[in-house]
Amino acid sequence: MKILKFGGTSVGSAQRMREVAKLITDGERKIVVLSAMSGTTNTLVEISDYLYKKNPDGANEVINRLEAQYRKHLDELYATDAYKRLTQEAVKAQFDFIRSYTKDLFTLFEEKVILAQGELMATCMMTNYLLEQGVKVELLPALEFMRTDKNGEPDPVYIKEKLEAQLELHPDAEIYITQGYICRNAYGEIDNLQRGGSDYTASLIGAAVKSEEIQIWTDIDGMHNNDPRFVTHTEPVPHLQFEEAAELAYFGAKILHPTCIQPAKYANIPVRLLNTMDPSAPGTLISNDLEPDTIKAVAAKDNITAIRIKSGRMLLAYGFLRKVFEIFESYQTSIDMICTSEVGVSVTIDRVTHLNEIVDDLKKYGTVTVDREMCIVCVVGDLKWSNVGFEAHALDAMRDIPVRMISFGGSNYNISFLIKKEDKQRALQSLSDHLFNRK
Ligand code: ADP
Ligand code: ASP
Ligand code: MG
Repeated sequence: MKILKFGGTSVGSAQRMREVAKLITDGERKIVVLSAMSGTTNTLVEISDYLYKKNPDGANEVINRLEAQYRKHLDELYATDAYKRLTQEAVKAQFDFIRSYTKDLFTLFEEKVILAQGELMATCMMTNYLLEQGVKVELLPALEFMRTDKNGEPDPVYIKEKLEAQLELHPDAEIYITQGYICRNAYGEIDNLQRGGSDYTASLIGAAVKSEEIQIWTDIDGMHNNDPRFVTHTEPVPHLQFEEAAELAYFGAKILHPTCIQPAKYANIPVRLLNTMDPSAPGTLISNDLEPDTIKAVAAKDNITAIRIKSGRMLLAYGFLRKVFEIFESYQTSIDMICTSEVGVSVTIDRVTHLNEIVDDLKKYGTVTVDREMCIVCVVGDLKWSNVGFEAHALDAMRDIPVRMISFGGSNYNISFLIKKEDKQRALQSLSDHLFNRK
């Protein structure tokens, strides 16, 4: 059974929902994972923010605005009064439920409940629309089977068992609809798989039911060989290996959430990225097969800070790097890139919440310098060290750009350059010209 996930943009209006309904009703049995309508989760975050700040009036104003939008969507979506009324009542009950949280103490727990409402509404609307169309559809409540453990990680054994039980309750359904993103935690409380987590839901479900394919439908035709927002002449990449896709997803090709890769990779289930606006386009197929000797794509990640620790004490010493890393660990700050020499080490981080404390602590071990507003540009493909020449092409493309760090050899799939933010567009374009549109 295939899993199809549609993101917020793909279900962002009544018209888009109808398009999705058309796409999924081809007679094949499938599980469909939906995100909240685009903008909804951000609005629910905004509502929560007002409630944290003890401003129920502000929250109510935003709630009313969002409810008015939903009323409009409902008016447009249904052809019959019966289904329109049924869904209006359900959605109204959900908004009243959200409003009930404006009256009491507001904590992280209540916020999670509010954030879950977007996916709950989208799936209710789509299920009722399909019922109106006479489709054999069942709504599978994600809160009954999607669960994280005490470490906040999905619990695959629980998910498989409970999902199978849910499917067995409705053996005749043609389409199962369920919510992306939302789950329960180890204590049974409503929780979520982090922003953008609907892709993760699809992948976890795919692994649980041993699906033959997981499809991630969005509003762009697959992962591009460069960032279309910055570079002219980008093209969708027809095929990526899971590791290549993970590097790209992490380095800014936002089309796929990086967490989604692992469950599919381990279960050996291909993931296909498809475009709701152009359903017949081939998109990008991600699988365990590697296309040898090819560079696939270039991506960039912003808001990077580089820290250099220079120390005479590092010379011939052991344990220096451990001490440095321990400082980052103690502030729960993960390191992305690292380059070392005998007299110094440079690392990059993208979370600067504890930058001052980290720099203070590092000063015990050497002279510290910080470069902000940097950007990592990474080249992804079959870059095993025995392949000759790719490094030279990439370096050649960076000939006129000041490069602060270079990392190669960490995996078989990437070369990363750390450059200034203002050089990003130039670097992306030059890499594109050298690697894909060789002149
Ligand atoms: P969805 O609502 O479908 O889950 P997301 O907002 O999670 O959509 O992610 C898909 C969006 O990411 C696309 O609309 C696209 O505009 C954007 N995007 C950003 N960077 C890239 C990139 N390098 N390649 C493709 N898409 C990108
Ligand atoms: N609706 C959630 C978000 O906006 C999850 C998702 O769309 O993947 O983050
Ligand atoms: Mg998404």
